Amino acid sequence: MIQAQDSTEPETPAMSSIYDRLGVRVIVNAKGPATRLSGAILPDEVAQAMAEAAQACVEIAELQATAGAIIAEATGAEAGYVTSGAAAGLLLGTAACVTRLDPGKMNRLPDTGGMKAEVVMVRSQRNFYDHAVRAAGVRIVEVGIADRFSGAGVRDAEAWELADAITDRTAAIHYVAQPWSRPILPEVVRVAGAAGIPVLVDAAAQLPPAENLRRFIREGADLVVFSGGKALRGPQASGILCGRRDLVMAAALQHLDLDIDWHLWSPPPALIDKARLPGAPHHGVGRPCKVGKEEIVGLLTALRLFLAQDPVVRRNSWLAQIQQIAAGLRGVPYASARVVEEGEVPLLELALDAGARLDALGLVEQLQRGIPPIHVDHARLSDGVIRCNPMCLRQDDPALIARRLCDLLRA
Ligand SMILES: *Cc1c(COP(=O)(O)O)cnc(C)c1O
Repeated sequence: MIQAQDSTEPETPAMSSIYDRLGVRVIVNAKGPATRLSGAILPDEVAQAMAEAAQACVEIAELQATAGAIIAEATGAEAGYVTSGAAAGLLLGTAACVTRLDPGKMNRLPDTGGMKAEVVMVRSQRNFYDHAVRAAGVRIVEVGIADRFSGAGVRDAEAWELADAITDRTAAIHYVAQPWSRPILPEVVRVAGAAGIPVLVDAAAQLPPAENLRRFIREGADLVVFSGGKALRGPQASGILCGRRDLVMAAALQHLDLDIDWHLWSPPPALIDKARLPGAPHHGVGRPCKVGKEEIVGLLTALRLFLAQDPVVRRNSWLAQIQQIAAGLRGVPYASARVVEEGEVPLLELALDAGARLDALGLVEQLQRGIPPIHVDHARLSDGVIRCNPMCLRQDDPALIARRLCDLLRA
């Protein structure tokens, strides 16, 4: 039972909270760490580290250099940097691939006139986070057709098609890492390497497994981004950018406050090597997604806790919560609950029969309208299925969810 005290299961806080004072409803989050539902619940140690960081001032470049060394150690990359999220990392990483260490180009972004301004991407990997890539001023060149969709086809994009799309205008290949992404990353890296083009990997939600912190770098990615506010349980507005030292340096130069005097400016050489620059750019295209000292310290603390926690303990604590919901649903009419154990995160799947008094859409609507509102995963509503994810549940939440579902389906 000592494991039940594990930090993956935060206690349900006392009634009077900052949200009560603001008149904002606290929700039960059975969807998982989504941005619209305010990300992860921070372990106490992370929240305390952030509060402590807030009590003194430091030079942000020095703090980022220290963070970079810790991230490099955790990921196996040459260099690391804390961003305000994975999407911010995509913007910074793309900008770095376009400008490299040229401060004139940094000043001109997102105007990419005269620069390599195309980013090659597999068509089936397009998604709305690539707004962040396009925000650097580049155009996305799509490759391949995922013709499995037709029912007759058997292919997605292939490595030779990526090679075919690379020209002297190509700044980078952008790759979205999922277990089902094709071609596999090592094949993409081979094509990119032959052409001297960097590969920028979106691995925002690819944790757990913790092993993925190192995997994409090991497979040859030049830059990788992760969310800080998902499974890492860091601040909602934090993320990791890691990879080649020169590219991380180019990213930092377009992110940091550069109202500096060249002679007085002495950034840590591990982060920014002044000797490689003819001069400093001004504020760059990444300046609007700045990161505070509190987020940097919070992310580092969360990363340390994530790596220290036994993955079996983490998974078992999630599984216990899902099983508790499933147990509470036994005997509920016209619905069947199933614990899905295949993925990295165990889930609860509730499938509604035709005779149920609410359809899946109606049920989700009622859950959200209740007090407290309960948010579930609604990605499979059209199949009559709702899902619960345990990552943001507090101690009392599983029982509350099961009770509410029973009430709604029995009433
Ligand atoms: C969550 C997510 C992002 C955005 O991450 P933030 O840390 O919220 O910026 C980007 N790409 C993918 C695939 C994601 O799942």
